Amino acid sequence: MKRNVLIIGAGGVAHVAAHKCAQNNILLGDIHIASRTLSKCHAIIASIKAKGSQRGPGLLKAHELDAMDVAATKALIRSTGAQIVINVGSPFLNMSVMTACIETGAAYLDTAIHEDPSQVCEAPPWYGNYEWKRRDACLKAGVTAILGVGFDPGVVNAYGRFAMDAYFDKVDSIDIIDINAGNHNRYFATNFDPEINFREFTSTVWSWEDSQWKANAMFERKHDWDLPVVGKRTAYLTGHDELHSMSKNLGVPNIRFWMGFGEHYINVFNVLNNLGLLSEKPVRTAEGLEVVPLKVVKAVLPDPSSLAPTYTGKTCIGDLVKGTKNGQPREVFVYNVCDHKESYKEVGSQAISYTAGVPVVAAAMLIADGVWDVGQMVNVEELDPKPFIGLMNRIGLVSRVRDAAGERVLDPYAEAPAKSRSSTPVAETTR
Ligand code: NDP
Repeated sequence: MKRNVLIIGAGGVAHVAAHKCAQNNILLGDIHIASRTLSKCHAIIASIKAKGSQRGPGLLKAHELDAMDVAATKALIRSTGAQIVINVGSPFLNMSVMTACIETGAAYLDTAIHEDPSQVCEAPPWYGNYEWKRRDACLKAGVTAILGVGFDPGVVNAYGRFAMDAYFDKVDSIDIIDINAGNHNRYFATNFDPEINFREFTSTVWSWEDSQWKANAMFERKHDWDLPVVGKRTAYLTGHDELHSMSKNLGVPNIRFWMGFGEHYINVFNVLNNLGLLSEKPVRTAEGLEVVPLKVVKAVLPDPSSLAPTYTGKTCIGDLVKGTKNGQPREVFVYNVCDHKESYKEVGSQAISYTAGVPVVAAAMLIADGVWDVGQMVNVEELDPKPFIGLMNRIGLVSRVRDAAGERVLDPYAEAPAKSRSSTPVAETTR
């Protein structure tokens, strides 16, 4: 059934999501883009028109919205007839937007865990502090809420679940590895909102090891990986959203997240951090001005979406899964490779925004056609990953697998045995 979509936020990920919704508006209906800065919504619509992304007739409309204002968000959901809300604004907005969805009955999607401006790297499981507290409310209202459905979190949750179902009897470890081997040709920039990017790294690194939470410091543990396309890369143990749900939902004793950083990023990060310029706590200048150092750093760094035109190179993000099958040890890497230049050619964005924007639209399409419309709150690994991986293969993000049999495109229906555990969505069985 055709369902109108309201996209909240008008940054890099929203830009891709809007293009992908337009390319698939036969299923998704009218597309509304609402954000704090109206001109950014208009710019996205102009880009969709310039690229000819819109497939069928339908409304494309920009709205000014402060999404912290629940009443205004509810009013906009009602006036646009939106049945699916794609929240790709800042993660500070999650709980307000979710409340508006629960109270209007619209499905809710996001791509990052909720953040409280005054806290960083919250105690695990972080979802328990915010989103999961609204699980009963979603169930009672019959509202589908799919949390963290970008690439990581999102696709990597589905990869973990898929690998468990398709290739293993028992899984010992999932190492999620995120390498951006691209070059943006600037002195220093982050690939998404600098404030959110730095907040991920300024406190405790939480990992799931031996079935318990383990604390490390940032850049304390590193590992060299040899990955398809991007080759040998060093990645550092990092705390990340998906660990907070996969640890609870998959029953795997070791789940870690590794992110690739170059020496230059680490040097700049350490200088900023040691000077206190990455602090989320306000300071007062000699002139009596109260400022949050991290917000000042954000204000002087390049806007991540401005990196796209000159970005070259590729990303490789995936799950290295180890365990046993029929008593024999087994190792499988499920992954995607995305090209910055190709992403720019198609929708005018760099690959980090592209890899987050495509999955959230795939999820919206699966809600629209009923497959993932589960009427409750779920994290991605609780859903059947096959339709999701299959749909992304068709709309722009092709998944691949590397194992003892070699490297190949991942056709989820061909690879997974018919009676795999996820042939029925977990969430549906508990509905
Ligand atoms: P941007 O900073 O580029 O965009 C965020 C947008 O939210 C901006 O347009 C901003 O408005 C808008 N916004 C902020 N506050 C409000 C408000 N109160 N009301 C309405 N709009 C508001 O971020 P990205 O596009 O890079 O990222 C979007 C989300 O996706 C983030 O949550 C990020 O963490 C997540 N992400 C997830 C990834 C994944 O793989 N899972 C990867 C990359 C990002 P303004 O323009 O006025 O500042």
